[in-house]
Amino acid sequence: MATVITIDGPSGGGKSTVSRMVAARLGYAYLDTGAMYRAVGLHARNRGTDLDDEAQVQEMLDSAELSLTPVDGDTRVLLCGEDVSEAIRSAEMGLVASRISALPLVRAKLTELQRQIGARGNVVAEGRDMGTVVFPDATGKFFLMASADERAHRRVEQLGEQGETISHAEILAQIEARDLADSTRALAPLKPASDAVMIDSTSMAVSEVVNFIVDQLAKK
Ligand code: C5P
Repeated sequence: MATVITIDGPSGGGKSTVSRMVAARLGYAYLDTGAMYRAVGLHARNRGTDLDDEAQVQEMLDSAELSLTPVDGDTRVLLCGEDVSEAIRSAEMGLVASRISALPLVRAKLTELQRQIGARGNVVAEGRDMGTVVFPDATGKFFLMASADERAHRRVEQLGEQGETISHAEILAQIEARDLADSTRALAPLKPASDAVMIDSTSMAVSEVVNFIVDQLAKK
Protein backbone atom coordinates (compact mmCIF):
# COMPACT_ATOMS: atom_id res chain seq x y z
CA MET A 1 0.00 0.00 0.00
CA ALA A 2 1.18 3.52 -0.79
CA THR A 3 2.52 5.34 2.27
CA VAL A 4 0.92 8.74 2.67
CA ILE A 5 1.33 11.09 5.65
CA THR A 6 -1.22 13.90 5.88
CA ILE A 7 -0.70 17.27 7.54
CA ASP A 8 -3.78 19.50 7.62
CA GLY A 9 -4.58 22.75 9.37
CA PRO A 10 -5.52 26.39 8.99
CA SER A 11 -3.43 28.94 7.09
CA GLY A 12 -0.23 30.15 8.69
CA GLY A 13 0.01 27.27 11.13
CA GLY A 14 3.49 26.36 9.88
CA LYS A 15 2.25 23.42 7.80
CA SER A 16 4.43 24.11 4.76
CA THR A 17 7.72 24.35 6.59
CA VAL A 18 6.91 21.40 8.82
CA SER A 19 5.64 19.24 5.93
CA ARG A 20 8.71 19.96 3.84
CA MET A 21 11.01 19.09 6.74
CA VAL A 22 9.13 15.89 7.61
CA ALA A 23 9.28 14.86 3.93
CA ALA A 24 13.03 15.53 3.87
CA ARG A 25 13.59 13.55 7.09
CA LEU A 26 11.65 10.55 5.75
CA GLY A 27 13.03 10.84 2.20
CA TYR A 28 9.45 11.28 0.94
CA ALA A 29 8.00 13.59 -1.71
CA TYR A 30 6.20 16.72 -0.50
CA LEU A 31 2.77 17.50 -1.94
CA ASP A 32 1.66 21.13 -1.49
CA THR A 33 -2.05 21.02 -2.31
CA GLY A 34 -2.59 24.69 -1.40
CA ALA A 35 -0.26 25.55 -4.29
CA MET A 36 -2.60 23.64 -6.60
CA TYR A 37 -5.65 25.67 -5.48
CA ARG A 38 -3.63 28.87 -5.74
CA ALA A 39 -2.46 28.03 -9.30
CA VAL A 40 -6.00 27.20 -10.45
CA GLY A 41 -7.16 30.47 -8.85
CA LEU A 42 -4.51 32.37 -10.79
CA HIS A 43 -5.51 30.63 -14.02
CA ALA A 44 -9.17 31.57 -13.47
CA ARG A 45 -8.20 35.15 -12.71
CA ASN A 46 -5.97 35.37 -15.80
CA ARG A 47 -8.81 34.11 -17.97
CA GLY A 48 -11.45 36.27 -16.31
CA THR A 49 -13.51 33.14 -15.55
CA ASP A 50 -16.96 33.80 -14.12
CA LEU A 51 -16.92 31.48 -11.10
CA ASP A 52 -20.71 31.35 -11.00
CA ASP A 53 -20.81 29.86 -14.51
CA GLU A 54 -20.13 26.08 -14.38
CA ALA A 55 -19.38 25.80 -18.10
CA GLN A 56 -16.74 28.52 -17.82
CA VAL A 57 -15.27 26.88 -14.72
CA GLN A 58 -15.07 23.52 -16.53
CA GLU A 59 -13.39 25.11 -19.56
CA MET A 60 -10.95 26.88 -17.30
CA LEU A 61 -10.12 23.56 -15.55
CA ASP A 62 -9.73 21.70 -18.85
CA SER A 63 -7.19 24.26 -20.00
CA ALA A 64 -5.24 24.37 -16.71
CA GLU A 65 -2.07 22.34 -17.18
CA LEU A 66 -0.52 22.02 -13.76
CA SER A 67 2.81 20.56 -12.84
CA LEU A 68 4.46 20.52 -9.43
CA THR A 69 8.16 19.74 -9.26
CA PRO A 70 10.19 19.51 -6.06
CA VAL A 71 13.23 21.79 -6.19
CA ASP A 72 15.65 22.19 -3.26
CA GLY A 73 13.00 21.30 -0.69
CA ASP A 74 10.53 23.72 -2.28
CA THR A 75 7.85 23.17 -4.92
CA ARG A 76 8.08 24.72 -8.38
CA VAL A 77 4.63 25.23 -9.83
CA LEU A 78 4.19 25.42 -13.59
CA LEU A 79 0.88 26.62 -14.99
CA CYS A 80 0.58 26.00 -18.74
CA GLY A 81 4.37 25.91 -18.90
CA GLU A 82 4.86 29.20 -17.04
CA ASP A 83 6.61 29.25 -13.65
CA VAL A 84 4.05 30.79 -11.25
CA SER A 85 5.73 29.62 -8.03
CA GLU A 86 6.16 33.16 -6.76
CA ALA A 87 3.05 34.75 -8.30
CA ILE A 88 0.76 32.36 -6.39
CA ARG A 89 2.24 33.17 -2.97
CA SER A 90 0.74 36.63 -2.44
CA ALA A 91 -1.88 37.25 0.25
CA GLU A 92 -4.34 38.12 -2.51
CA MET A 93 -3.86 34.74 -4.20
CA GLY A 94 -4.57 33.06 -0.85
CA LEU A 95 -8.00 34.67 -0.86
CA VAL A 96 -8.60 33.79 -4.53
CA ALA A 97 -7.60 30.18 -3.78
CA SER A 98 -9.98 30.06 -0.84
CA ARG A 99 -12.87 31.27 -3.01
CA ILE A 100 -12.17 28.86 -5.87
CA SER A 101 -11.58 25.92 -3.53
CA ALA A 102 -15.26 25.92 -2.53
CA LEU A 103 -16.31 24.97 -6.09
CA PRO A 104 -17.23 21.27 -6.50
CA LEU A 105 -15.73 21.01 -10.02
CA VAL A 106 -12.42 22.41 -8.82
CA ARG A 107 -12.28 20.12 -5.79
CA ALA A 108 -13.13 17.06 -7.89
CA LYS A 109 -10.32 17.75 -10.36
CA LEU A 110 -7.68 18.53 -7.75
CA THR A 111 -8.69 15.64 -5.49
CA GLU A 112 -8.18 13.25 -8.41
CA LEU A 113 -4.78 14.74 -9.25
CA GLN A 114 -3.73 14.55 -5.60
CA ARG A 115 -4.73 10.89 -5.36
CA GLN A 116 -2.72 10.11 -8.50
CA ILE A 117 0.34 11.65 -6.88
CA GLY A 118 -0.40 9.90 -3.56
CA ALA A 119 -0.69 6.54 -5.32
CA ARG A 120 3.03 6.71 -6.14
CA GLY A 121 3.60 6.37 -2.40
CA ASN A 122 6.03 7.89 0.09
CA VAL A 123 4.32 11.27 0.09
CA VAL A 124 3.77 13.91 2.76
CA ALA A 125 0.56 15.67 1.69
CA GLU A 126 -0.29 19.06 3.12
CA GLY A 127 -3.63 20.89 2.92
CA ARG A 128 -7.05 21.20 4.52
CA ASP A 129 -8.77 17.91 3.62
CA MET A 130 -5.89 15.48 3.18
CA GLY A 131 -6.77 13.26 6.16
CA THR A 132 -10.55 13.64 5.89
CA VAL A 133 -11.33 13.36 2.16
CA VAL A 134 -8.37 12.83 -0.15
CA PHE A 135 -6.42 10.19 1.81
CA PRO A 136 -8.78 8.75 4.45
CA ASP A 137 -6.56 5.65 4.72
CA ALA A 138 -3.32 7.57 5.22
CA THR A 139 -0.62 5.91 7.32
CA GLY A 140 -0.28 8.90 9.66
CA LYS A 141 -2.50 11.97 10.05
CA PHE A 142 -1.65 15.22 11.80
CA PHE A 143 -3.60 18.44 12.34
CA LEU A 144 -1.44 21.47 12.99
CA MET A 145 -2.85 24.54 14.72
CA ALA A 146 -1.58 27.70 16.35
CA SER A 147 -3.37 30.76 17.71
CA ALA A 148 -4.63 33.15 15.01
CA ASP A 149 -2.41 35.88 16.45
CA GLU A 150 0.72 33.71 16.20
CA ARG A 151 -0.22 32.59 12.69
CA ALA A 152 -0.69 36.22 11.60
CA HIS A 153 2.72 37.05 13.07
CA ARG A 154 4.35 34.21 11.08
CA ARG A 155 2.56 35.18 7.85
CA VAL A 156 3.64 38.84 8.14
CA GLU A 157 7.26 37.65 8.47
CA GLN A 158 6.93 35.18 5.59
CA LEU A 159 5.33 37.73 3.24
CA GLY A 160 7.96 40.29 4.31
CA GLU A 161 10.69 37.87 3.17
CA GLN A 162 8.93 37.77 -0.22
CA GLY A 163 8.93 41.59 -0.35
CA GLU A 164 5.24 42.06 0.49
CA THR A 165 4.51 44.54 3.30
CA ILE A 166 1.20 44.02 5.06
CA SER A 167 0.12 45.00 8.57
CA HIS A 168 -0.46 42.46 11.34
CA ALA A 169 -4.08 43.63 11.73
CA GLU A 170 -4.81 43.21 8.02
CA ILE A 171 -3.28 39.75 7.77
CA LEU A 172 -5.04 38.68 11.00
CA ALA A 173 -8.39 39.76 9.50
CA GLN A 174 -7.57 37.86 6.27
CA ILE A 175 -6.54 34.72 8.19
CA GLU A 176 -9.73 34.79 10.26
CA ALA A 177 -11.90 35.32 7.16
CA ARG A 178 -10.12 32.51 5.27
CA ASP A 179 -10.36 30.10 8.25
CA LEU A 180 -14.06 30.83 8.57
CA ALA A 181 -14.67 30.29 4.83
CA ASP A 182 -12.52 27.13 4.76
CA SER A 183 -14.12 25.56 7.82
CA THR A 184 -17.76 26.39 7.05
CA ARG A 185 -17.91 25.44 3.36
CA ALA A 186 -20.12 22.50 2.46
CA LEU A 187 -17.47 20.52 0.60
CA ALA A 188 -14.36 19.15 2.30
CA PRO A 189 -14.33 21.76 5.07
CA LEU A 190 -11.23 22.36 7.12
CA LYS A 191 -11.46 20.02 10.12
CA PRO A 192 -9.32 17.39 11.77
CA ALA A 193 -9.86 13.76 10.78
CA SER A 194 -11.21 11.78 13.73
CA ASP A 195 -7.96 9.78 13.80
CA ALA A 196 -5.59 12.75 13.37
CA VAL A 197 -2.99 13.63 15.99
CA MET A 198 -3.61 17.25 17.06
CA ILE A 199 -0.60 19.53 17.46
CA ASP A 200 -0.80 23.07 18.84
CA SER A 201 2.40 24.72 17.66
CA THR A 202 1.76 28.17 19.19
CA SER A 203 4.74 27.90 21.49
CA MET A 204 6.70 25.14 19.75
CA ALA A 205 9.77 25.58 17.55
CA VAL A 206 9.50 24.13 14.03
CA SER A 207 12.14 21.53 14.85
CA GLU A 208 10.11 20.38 17.89
CA VAL A 209 7.01 19.88 15.74
CA VAL A 210 9.01 17.96 13.13
CA ASN A 211 10.63 15.74 15.76
CA PHE A 212 7.26 15.07 17.36
CA ILE A 213 5.75 13.95 14.03
CA VAL A 214 8.72 11.78 13.09
CA ASP A 215 8.65 10.16 16.56
CA GLN A 216 4.93 9.47 16.31
CA LEU A 217 5.45 7.82 12.92
CA ALA A 218 8.33 5.73 14.24
CA LYS A 219 5.99 4.35 16.94
CA LYS A 220 3.56 3.04 14.33
O1 C5P B 1 -2.35 26.30 2.18
P1 C5P B 1 -2.61 27.52 1.35
O2 C5P B 1 -2.71 28.78 2.16
O3 C5P B 1 -1.62 27.67 0.23
O4 C5P B 1 -4.04 27.26 0.66
C1 C5P B 1 -4.72 28.26 -0.02
C2 C5P B 1 -6.21 27.98 0.02
O5 C5P B 1 -6.49 26.82 -0.76
C3 C5P B 1 -6.81 27.69 1.40
O6 C5P B 1 -7.25 28.83 2.10
C4 C5P B 1 -7.97 26.76 1.09
O7 C5P B 1 -9.13 27.50 0.81
C5 C5P B 1 -7.55 26.08 -0.19
N1 C5P B 1 -7.14 24.69 0.04
C6 C5P B 1 -8.13 23.73 0.11
N2 C5P B 1 -7.81 22.42 0.24
C7 C5P B 1 -6.53 22.04 0.32
C8 C5P B 1 -5.49 23.01 0.25
C9 C5P B 1 -5.84 24.33 0.13
O8 C5P B 1 -9.32 24.05 0.07
N3 C5P B 1 -6.25 20.75 0.42
